Amino acid sequence: MPDFSTPAIMLRSIDHGDYDLIIKFLTLKQGKVTVIAKYAKKSKKRFSGILELFSVLELVYKTGRGKGLYLLKEASLKEPFMKIRGDIKKTAYASYWTEIINQWLEEGTRQESIYYLFRHVLQALDSGRIPEEALSILFQIRFMKISGFSPNLSLCSTCGIEIDSMEGNSILFDLAKGGIVCKGCASYPSGRLYLSRGTIKQLEWVGSGDIKKAERIRFTSPAIKESLVFLEAFVPYHLGREPRSLSFLRKIR
Ligand SMILES: [Zn+2]
Repeated sequence: MPDFSTPAIMLRSIDHGDYDLIIKFLTLKQGKVTVIAKYAKKSKKRFSGILELFSVLELVYKTGRGKGLYLLKEASLKEPFMKIRGDIKKTAYASYWTEIINQWLEEGTRQESIYYLFRHVLQALDSGRIPEEALSILFQIRFMKISGFSPNLSLCSTCGIEIDSMEGNSILFDLAKGGIVCKGCASYPSGRLYLSRGTIKQLEWVGSGDIKKAERIRFTSPAIKESLVFLEAFVPYHLGREPRSLSFLRKIR
């Protein structure tokens, strides 16, 4: 089998016996892949000590060994993102995004836009140019959009009337329906969240168009709070379970 080379972001590493590591990467060319790094646990020198979470690496691996487990041959460091791993809050956010990606994506399916989105938010998190909370909003809303689960924030999910024809400033969001619901259609009390019109507008902005323009949006602090509560319920609802890293994130925030 030929060697395969691709940029990749490290998602997860598990010890395998006394010598090896089994590592999950989000690669640019093959989506999520699992590789075995022989002797990487025993000797840091084997891969120059660069196999660290969230780092962007250039990998060379041998494909076709068993089903979906590739043999890592070489790794070189492209972006270390040291400031993320040196900061507990940044690490908590990066871990949450990583867990969403790891849980959501199928092994071996190329997902270029998710790779670029993830690399973009990690770069911004490392540089500190945007507050962590705003980045997490940007990541979650865009991730859901790329995955085809964009929340419906413009029409009532039941009767289809437009948000502008709805009453009040607080709009009901129904998790099971994946969208907003007008007062007339709101009938049962479970899975309900409220979003103000201002927050909805900001969410729509940040979820669409050029990412560099979107990241310049300055959220008001009530909008940040409301958006995080909303997205951290909406994403796990579609994921089918609550990411473990989310409870840690809530604790330290
Ligand atoms: Zn309605």
